[in-house]
Amino acid sequence: MKCPRCVQQIHRAAASCPQCGFSIADADQLFGNEEIKLRTLTDAAGIFRRHERIFLEEAMDKIAHRFPQIFVAIYTGSLGESGHLRQFGFWLLNRGVFEDVPMEKPNENGILIVIDPDSKSAGMTHGYLLDPYLEEKDSFDCLSRAHSYWLEGRYADGAVRSLRALEDLLIKRCRQACRDTEKYERRYGKVSAMKDEVKKLRKHDSKQATKHRQSEKEVNL
Ligand SMILES: [Zn+2]
Repeated sequence: MKCPRCVQQIHRAAASCPQCGFSIADADQLFGNEEIKLRTLTDAAGIFRRHERIFLEEAMDKIAHRFPQIFVAIYTGSLGESGHLRQFGFWLLNRGVFEDVPMEKPNENGILIVIDPDSKSAGMTHGYLLDPYLEEKDSFDCLSRAHSYWLEGRYADGAVRSLRALEDLLIKRCRQACRDTEKYERRYGKVSAMKDEVKKLRKHDSKQATKHRQSEKEVNL
């Protein structure tokens, strides 16, 4: 993965960036260290109309249906300092609890698009389990499909173009990985190792959920 602050390549298991020292704690300082409950389509900036939300959700569901391991999320909001968009995306994918995503899909398998209409910027972040399939340039390519629409304030039209580009790209990468599994294993470690990671994350997720239920109970009392 790339460090969200200095954009240097770092190992996915690293707790902090060896180049600039960035860690989730730094992102927590900027945005808070509590888990955020949200839906995969969260329009905090209020830029989508109701019928647009429906066709955006259809495009997101289509990807999740075609690739059952993956989910896609879109968040819109004003982030103030635009330079923090990348760090915000990283943070939200770590701290977000997406209520409409099944438990067996960890955030590490998520792809998040953040749109800030005020600073006229957007970013795409993916969980590290997608590292073998998505590169930095891919995020740029997908978002650039939306660029001309977003300049005109047509946010939903632009986002749908990005989602379609993302879907096409995932199909292409999937085929490449099927044809040349050895290359993907060489570059990113064996798939079996990734399965172990997922299992660990699931365990962690269910523990978190129990914790949630407990704290909710306490509030009710
Ligand atoms: Zn860094």
